[in-house]
Amino acid sequence: MFQDLRRLTRGHRRWIAVAAGLSLLGSALALAQPLLAGAAVDAATGGRVPWPVFAALAGLFAAQAVAHATARYVQAYTGETMTRQLRLAVIVRLLRVRMPLLDHVRTGDVIARACGDTAVVKTLIAQSLGTGVAGVIALIAVVALLARLDPSLMALVVALFTVSVLSLLAVVRRLRAASHTAQAAEGDLSADLERTLGGMRTVRACRAEPVEADRLRGSATRAYRANLRMAELAALSGPANDLAVSGAFLTVLLVGATRVASGETSLGRLVAFTLAMTYLSAPIYEIFQAVGAVQQGSGALHRINEVLALPVERDQPRAVVPMRRRPPVLEFRDVWFGYDPARPVLRGIRFAVPERGHVALVGASGAGKSTIFALAERFYEPDRGTILLRGRDARFIPYARHRAIVGLVEQDCPLLAGTLKENLLYGAEPTAERDLGRVLAMTGLTGVVAALPGGLDTPVGERGGRLSGGQRQRVAIARCLLSRPDLILLDEPTAHLDPDSERALAAAMREVARVCALVVIAHRFSTVRAADRVLVVDDGVVTDDGTHEQLLRSNEYYRRLAA
Ligand code: ATP
Repeated sequence: MFQDLRRLTRGHRRWIAVAAGLSLLGSALALAQPLLAGAAVDAATGGRVPWPVFAALAGLFAAQAVAHATARYVQAYTGETMTRQLRLAVIVRLLRVRMPLLDHVRTGDVIARACGDTAVVKTLIAQSLGTGVAGVIALIAVVALLARLDPSLMALVVALFTVSVLSLLAVVRRLRAASHTAQAAEGDLSADLERTLGGMRTVRACRAEPVEADRLRGSATRAYRANLRMAELAALSGPANDLAVSGAFLTVLLVGATRVASGETSLGRLVAFTLAMTYLSAPIYEIFQAVGAVQQGSGALHRINEVLALPVERDQPRAVVPMRRRPPVLEFRDVWFGYDPARPVLRGIRFAVPERGHVALVGASGAGKSTIFALAERFYEPDRGTILLRGRDARFIPYARHRAIVGLVEQDCPLLAGTLKENLLYGAEPTAERDLGRVLAMTGLTGVVAALPGGLDTPVGERGGRLSGGQRQRVAIARCLLSRPDLILLDEPTAHLDPDSERALAAAMREVARVCALVVIAHRFSTVRAADRVLVVDDGVVTDDGTHEQLLRSNEYYRRLAA
């Protein structure tokens, strides 16, 4: 935990120290007040009105208020700055995390970690680090002041507070566990909600609203219980502190009054002592808040650290840049791969893709075609064998370079919300805008854009919902082309396209195959027929390779697929 705190506060310690210093200054100014008040009372009982002392007291009040207010702002500022830094660290990590790990991540939970947990850590920082340190110092100063005013009364007060502190420690220890449970439950709730919203059409179509409501109610209730448990623990600490303060007050007044009566101390000293005692509860409260916040924050910090520890895609130190003009563009040499290494999905895949032209991958569902694409895009690494890009081992090519060479058009082509133009130029070089008109023509989108109310500036809607499936696919092809890749991997839609859309897609593919290599997972007869070469994938192996006509003649499995 202390190591985490050290790492967390790196670069911010100056501001934390400023906040602590200002808090301390505020406390010191507050502490001077009982002394002055005591002097004023003693002077007043002597029959004089001590105006200068009153003026000094007013000045102290004002200065203390300013110091405390500034300290609070500096703490909040530090907390916000650190939260932003932590959130960015989580986001940057997630954007670079190795793809196989994302198969096991629940999006909603990760969002909760990036937003909710970081906010809890902010509370830890804002509440604890500055005030906690200042609280400890202030506590020592108040006790010293009390000892100076009346050592025996001080001993009594310290004894009373020690009992309450010990009872509170037990509470604080449970806070950490409760916080971890609460944050995990919040994460579950976000994950469940994200899943439900993502599949809302299925939920409605299956009339599963009550099932989903029950599931969400379950996670909401777990979060509710865990948060209530924390509230219980926090609530317990307040009255315990108040009880200790009130008890100490009463005792001091009783014992003090008898001491004044017997002449052992003056009334002014007793007033000063009781006033000074009121300053005891603030630092104690601050220390408890700080310890509680550290306990809660450490639960959240643990969840954040889990994300920050996820391995990211790292380029090999001996990275090489592939040569531009050396066929084949892509080659699989005896590639083996399984999502679970014990169950290989690809079992010795071999093929090469030439510089230009149209290659179709065909095979039954589950044969491994999408997995070949995932490996070609380096979302996963082969268990055995080599993937070569322009003759160079892909492992040694920087990820960004690799993905600039190999473009991917997914089957459902998710577009991001925003305008059509933003989607088209997503991730492309700034100069790509010059090619926009040409690429739109190549993908048959010129007419589509002209028909849209705002042209290129028309918003495409959440996940591109305002475009038809066929249009989305062509927008995705255009987006890919604008990055000028050497090879485009295209997962053809399985969904039915109307004859016009199908023709437009086929024409776009023809155009693409003229400017770069194109590999298509083919689901349509027309695509297979248009391909220069067809690779037959069966159960993780490329079993045959030829033109459509050749394969129809020679390959029984292909004939069955075609049928
Ligand atoms: P389809 O044409 O139906 O999309 P496909 O030929 O593209 O099929 P793949 O999607 O590559 O087949 O799947 C091959 C095998 O790998 C299947 O058995 C599938 O269940 C499994 N698989 C695919 N993706 C994953 C994943 N992320 N984690 C675990 N297993 C997976």
